[in-house]
This record gives sequence, structure tokens and C-alpha cells, in this order.
Amino acid sequence: MRRKLAAGNWKMNGSAAALAELQALAALSTSDSTDILICPPSTLISRAKSVAGNVALGGQDCHASTSGAHTGDVAADMLKDAGASYVILGHSERREDHNERDEDVRSKAKTAWDAGLVTVICVGESLSEREADNTLDIIGGQLAGSIPDGATGENLVVAYEPIWAIGTGKVPTMSQIGEVHDFMRMRLERRFGEGVGRTVPLLYGGSVKPGNAEEIFAVSNVDGALVGGASLKASDFSAIITALDAA
Ligand code: PEP
Repeated sequence: MRRKLAAGNWKMNGSAAALAELQALAALSTSDSTDILICPPSTLISRAKSVAGNVALGGQDCHASTSGAHTGDVAADMLKDAGASYVILGHSERREDHNERDEDVRSKAKTAWDAGLVTVICVGESLSEREADNTLDIIGGQLAGSIPDGATGENLVVAYEPIWAIGTGKVPTMSQIGEVHDFMRMRLERRFGEGVGRTVPLLYGGSVKPGNAEEIFAVSNVDGALVGGASLKASDFSAIITALDAA
């Protein structure tokens, strides 16, 4: 059985006061097969740990090196030490703002696995790539280039995040989401074997809200969501978690 995952990405939002939202999420009860993850700014992870309960914590990026002269960066071991068990890698905002390439994401993922973190590796096409009918080529290339050898259902989660849907209120049709998720499942099974490929959770991300969550979670091979804006308020995110739990 694949696990379901509701993952919240707080991005560069949240100070100590935001921990009340996390505390509210920690009070939710879900079935055993649904996991909840919050990725706050790394400055909050160790304080978040004291109120997170069963909610897992993650970083939003890590460096490919384990330590050294990299001003402003954070190492995977440091995230682990602060209380994280996951890290998001290759988010489109990192790929765009920091020129991260697939090979950078792959190096970071290896370091993160060595540190014992589960990686949430993001892939997704731009609007022009979708309009040119290149979506599956782009996704196939990003999967091949960003995921290191050695993936398992325990160390890898993949998030399909069409760039044009992030923070825009625009969502692909359910059949577009299903097409990409079925394709990702097929590619993972082909590369890592059916046993592994079948167990890697696949998340959809991009303007997931309480009002569209149920419909998205009914799509084949959608095992959860990576949620930005709607993860900042426990009232919104808990409605998404409840929809996932019921799916
Ligand atoms: C994200 O940043 O990963 C994301 C999906 O954002 P939003 O839910 O706000 O579109």
C-alpha cells in the first residue's frame, strides 16, 4: 500500500506566531495511511518540533555538500539535526531563482538521503512548454535527471507542479493531471522496477485548495498534494488533509 501525504510548503513565510497553525494541525486525527508534512522556513524547524506532534517537518532546500564555506546555505545534516525528516528539492522557485539544474537537484538528493531525509523532488512544465505539447518530454527529462539511482518508496516522493499553476489559482484539468501522474508512475516503474516504482508517493501541487482537493485526490496515481498558500492556515490545510484522508 502506498502512503498518502499532505505536504505544506510555507516558503519564506512564518515567524514564531505561525507555530499556532502547526499546533492546530497536530491536533488533527487521520488514518494510519495518511501522513502530514509541514516545511516551514528552516529558522523555525527546531521550535516547530516541540509542537508538531505527529506532523513531520521538512526543509525547503539543502546544499549538495555536507558542510563548508557556503554562506547562507543549509546542509541536509543540519535540517535533520533541527528535527526535519523530509526536504523539498528542485521546487520551480529554486530552479528559477537560483538556476538549479537537474544535476544540482540530483546531487542534493544524494546528500539528503545520506543524511536520512526523505526527498520531495519537484518537477513541472512551464506554460509555454505545455502549450507546445512538450509536457511529458519535460517531465521525463526532469525525472531522469533529478532523481539519483537508489530511489525507494521510503526515501523518495515526487511532486508534479506545473509552474503555471503555482500560486495562480489555475489548475490543470483532471485528465491533464492524470496523464502526467500515470506517465510518472510508468517511468518510475521502468527505471526502479515495479516494486519500487509502485510505492513512491506522487503528489500534485499547484493551487490546491479546500474546494478542489477532493476532485484532485480522485485522480489516478495522485497520492497527495504539495500545497503552498493554502498550507499557511490550519483551517484551509486541515480541510485538504481531511479530503485526502477520505480519498
Ligand atoms: C508550491 O509552492 O509548491 C505550491 C503548490 O503553491 P500553491 O499551492 O500556492 O500554488
